[in-house]
Amino acid sequence: MPKKTAPKTKKETYVRCKKCGDEIFGDTHKKMTCCKCKFIGVDGCEDYVRIIGEEENYEIISK
Ligand SMILES: [Zn+2]
Repeated sequence: MPKKTAPKTKKETYVRCKKCGDEIFGDTHKKMTCCKCKFIGVDGCEDYVRIIGEEENYEIISK
């Protein structure tokens, strides 16, 4: 599985799964969190957001 670390901005970072539409908040306190369909996983903290899954299956949203 490819891994990608999204640059952390001052905005809140969310990762949205394109398969199920689930939005996962980037700061998961280093706890691996999967979306409903388990296509993507997010593992993040205050400093970084690590995303596990195919890049075509998710998008990064800053709110
Ligand atoms: Zn999903």
